[in-house]
Amino acid sequence: MPLSPRTIAVSAGRPAHEAGSPVNHPIDVSTTFLQGTDVVYSRQDLSRTDALAGFETALGALEGGEVTAFASGMAASSAVFETLPVGSGVVLPANCYYSNQTVLNDAGERGRLLVRVVDTADTEATVDAMDELGECALLWLESPSNPMLQVCDLPALAAAAHERGALVAVDSTFNTPFVLRPLEHGADLVVHSATKYIGGHSDLLMGVVVAARDDLVAAVRQRRYLGGAMPGTLETFLALRGLRTLPLRIAAAQANAGDLARRLSEHPQVAWVRYLGLPDDPFHERAARLQDGFGAVLTFGPVGGADAADRLCELVRLITPATSLGGVETLMERRAKYAGDRAQGVPADLLRLSVGVEDVEDLWDDLAQALDRLRST
Ligand SMILES: *Cc1c(COP(=O)(O)O)cnc(C)c1O
Repeated sequence: MPLSPRTIAVSAGRPAHEAGSPVNHPIDVSTTFLQGTDVVYSRQDLSRTDALAGFETALGALEGGEVTAFASGMAASSAVFETLPVGSGVVLPANCYYSNQTVLNDAGERGRLLVRVVDTADTEATVDAMDELGECALLWLESPSNPMLQVCDLPALAAAAHERGALVAVDSTFNTPFVLRPLEHGADLVVHSATKYIGGHSDLLMGVVVAARDDLVAAVRQRRYLGGAMPGTLETFLALRGLRTLPLRIAAAQANAGDLARRLSEHPQVAWVRYLGLPDDPFHERAARLQDGFGAVLTFGPVGGADAADRLCELVRLITPATSLGGVETLMERRAKYAGDRAQGVPADLLRLSVGVEDVEDLWDDLAQALDRLRST
């Protein structure tokens, strides 16, 4: 009987199951090795038995593909873009992690790629954008998108892209393999910022590319070797440790997020709430159809607009006003303070809450006291 994903997260990528083996892979800091095998230099794709191999094996078993780990999420997505021949057509989302949009738009301006930006939650518009390019090499998706929480119809888009000879890559950072495995829905490549949920403790920068096709794996691995964006050995060790508890953290954070979303939507000081798990959310049905759960990021706007949102970030005591997401601790920030998010049309009052695994009553008490003080100031 196949193991359940929760068991795979704990058991895959361990050292050999034999007498005297360590339970965890060692942190191996050597860059060079006594010659005589294929293990030569640590920027290479080594057949080693350290935490990097363990991490890639374990996450690959969860995603259903081969994982190549990188020094950051941006290094991972950049490696995918670099595999494209000069002049390739790329369709990308109007709302997505802003640095990915910047890298692709910049490649467009420098004539390296032909780029089209479109609302990829709109399947028809996305198919039209691929056709307008003439030849589309890559459809880049992010689902749910940051921070607008738009969900793509991945199976429909993958089918349309493949009919047109395009590859489909999905930035699945917000979901993790416990919520969605894009390869199962037709994606060719999956990218994560492992800095977020996979690491899970806001203490490492890493990224991954997952692919099932051998030629894609080889191309991505070659980009890592030549581009040099290998993850550090300590980071890899920590990412594997994070992965072991990912299913537990995701389950706890998702439950908290659902609870907070419901309570926020009933609070008189809250103007609006977006959470994929709310039955009236515009992307609820699509998320329910494709995903196992609704993730642990929600967004909301307090009564009083952007100023009130900034003030709320000053009034919280337990929740940390900081960027990033996916850690055990709850983080909150007003996204439109960044020019990049403003340019994508992110509402000025939008607060992104990355819900952690604290006791939900403590999180609610903190939000409620901040909202109460907001009203009285
Ligand atoms: C953080 C993030 C990235 C970039 O990852 P880094 O590890 O910061 O380089 C890419 N996509 C999404 C959705 C992210 O949240």
